[in-house]
Amino acid sequence: MSRAGLLTLLVSGLASAQPFLRTRALSNTGESNLCVTWGARKVTYRMDAAGSARTPVEAEFTAVDNAFAAWQNVARGCSDFEFVRGPRIVDPKVGRGSQEDNVVTFREENCRDAVPLTDPCQSDGSCGNKFKCWEHGDSTIALTTSTYSTRTGVVFDSDIEFNAGASSDGARFLFTTISSPPCAEGMETPFCTAYDIQNTATHEIGHLVGLDHVTGTTSTMAPTAPLGDLMKRVIDPGTASGFCGTYPRGKPPVPCDELAQLKSRITARNTGTLGCSCDGVLAAAPWLAVLLLRRRRRG
Ligand SMILES: [Zn+2]
Repeated sequence: MSRAGLLTLLVSGLASAQPFLRTRALSNTGESNLCVTWGARKVTYRMDAAGSARTPVEAEFTAVDNAFAAWQNVARGCSDFEFVRGPRIVDPKVGRGSQEDNVVTFREENCRDAVPLTDPCQSDGSCGNKFKCWEHGDSTIALTTSTYSTRTGVVFDSDIEFNAGASSDGARFLFTTISSPPCAEGMETPFCTAYDIQNTATHEIGHLVGLDHVTGTTSTMAPTAPLGDLMKRVIDPGTASGFCGTYPRGKPPVPCDELAQLKSRITARNTGTLGCSCDGVLAAAPWLAVLLLRRRRRG
């Protein structure tokens, strides 16, 4: 049985899906009591000027804008949070920057293919930025890297990468923008729905604002996305409530609800749905929280 099959089985055994789950900050000793949260209410995103190589014309830019607009629409009803589109950026760097400099980039090559084995970046984790390549798992569609203070949980920077590089078997995710018809497996073209950019970006922006994966398969924050998935384009009420509850209009961000968080965390771990791997950076600097959107594999 594949991993996705096992996931489906376990999720179906739950009494009810979680409405939302906030992302825990890491401390030097593990997870802390803090949640990863923006202090600022105005967050600027910048698209890599290179766009997506396999997406016709400039549709990928519109698709990402639409994803941020969906979140802005939620914010309008409950919060003073603002998503601002900044100028496009050439050669963006992931894992650095500020609230003015959150980048969205398509990694068109896997680092396995792009980076010489002798390059120094192989030992310090900098290959992705140096070679503009994807340095994460083959089955991951996209990934958000948030940089935050381990002392406060406050986010400084959050960047989104799409995995457009070839996996070890030569296959790659085709990122598309049209809403129909769904692509048949193995027959993906830009003229059907394969891995929808807006769908993927809407999920990743959920990570950007500090939300984690939940067990409900219909949630924007569900950890998997099958071929042709469009469901995450529409932000579900549970995900919206997580955002609204964190960033209430005119008030400071709300700290984690310890009891609810603990309960949710145990539930999520028991079902194996958390797709979070975490990595530290420079000692005095914040940690990186790396959150994964995994591809649902065929049985
Ligand atoms: Zn995710």
